[in-house]
Amino acid sequence: MTLEDLGYNPDLEKFRKSQQLENFQVGRVISEHKERYGVRTTDKEYDAEIIGNLRFSAHQRADFPAVGDWVAISEYDQDKALIHKVFPRKTIIERQAVGKLGEKQIIASNIDYAFIVQAVDRDFNINRIERYLTICNTSNVKPIILLNKIDLIDNVKLSNLIRQVKERIQKIPVIAISNETKNGIAALKNKMEKGKTYCLLGSSGVGKSTLLNTLSGKEIMQTNAISTSTKKGRHITSHRELIILDNGAILIDNPGMREIGITDATAGIEKTFKRILDLSKSCKFKDCTHTTETGCAILQAVEQGEIDTDSYENYQKMEREKEHFESTVAEKRKKDKDFGKLIKHYKKSKKH
Ligand code: GDP
Ligand code: ZN
Repeated sequence: MTLEDLGYNPDLEKFRKSQQLENFQVGRVISEHKERYGVRTTDKEYDAEIIGNLRFSAHQRADFPAVGDWVAISEYDQDKALIHKVFPRKTIIERQAVGKLGEKQIIASNIDYAFIVQAVDRDFNINRIERYLTICNTSNVKPIILLNKIDLIDNVKLSNLIRQVKERIQKIPVIAISNETKNGIAALKNKMEKGKTYCLLGSSGVGKSTLLNTLSGKEIMQTNAISTSTKKGRHITSHRELIILDNGAILIDNPGMREIGITDATAGIEKTFKRILDLSKSCKFKDCTHTTETGCAILQAVEQGEIDTDSYENYQKMEREKEHFESTVAEKRKKDKDFGKLIKHYKKSKKH
């Protein structure tokens, strides 16, 4: 295996030279478990941990390695290595860290493309696709929409759905597939690029694990088949979270990826709804809420059919959720601060 097979590129090599890292080996993080990292090199897979220095200077979780990262390592035992440096990340998929509001946790890095998977049977929802698109925009990951389970509907219904999606979402590839009949799978495999890294986004039950198995030709992920009634994914994740497919494409799938949801989407609203925002500059009032105001350029555009009503409503909804989310973070910060004061006060009073 070459480093290029793992996704290595000239930019990374340039960085390595500029940082005098020639004496280290280069590898890619393929799994993470409690601050131990599986690192794949051209000829080996190491069980690695970060050097004390790196740990010492790590101020937040984002400073620690993540699946998809490129790292400089040194071997200290047969299959053991130390991570000395994390290479700069080209893209980052992150979410709110659990338990620590406002702090970000990296789910995976250096992903080129995201498959946004939607099942065409139940729960088909273009708003949801738009939300995942926003995540892609925020992270600079290129989206590809996959409509899965097309074996469950007829061709007329399918072309209707595709038309609906394309009307709302322009310039983004849409591929219809079925894991059952394998329709569209060859086309999908053909479209995937060698040495590029992909991930799967989508709600539980849309068929991500099944697709991973279909693409790899192996039973890598246990699918939802037994637990569909609970609608919860009960996945037994294999150790490896980064795999190389026969077509040379690289796929990252880890538990965190599956929890990516709406709260992560906030920062990207601007990009996805750029047109709406551009228009808002022409609103009569500076603090226009774009709901009832006369002279609102957005409402005018909606009326004239220039902006889709659904997109407008989705935009409003996301703005509200963003506001809610931000106020929760602010509240949490205040509580922490007050609690800090209380502790201080308590300590002071104990001294006397
Ligand atoms: P995940 O939660 O997104 O990983 O979804 P799973 O891969 O576990 O799939 C959920 C259920 O959908 C399972 O029962 C799969 O067998 C089923 N499924 C997946 N892909 C297809 C498909 O293309 N057609 C049909 N009919 N069922 C599918
Ligand atoms: Zn307005």
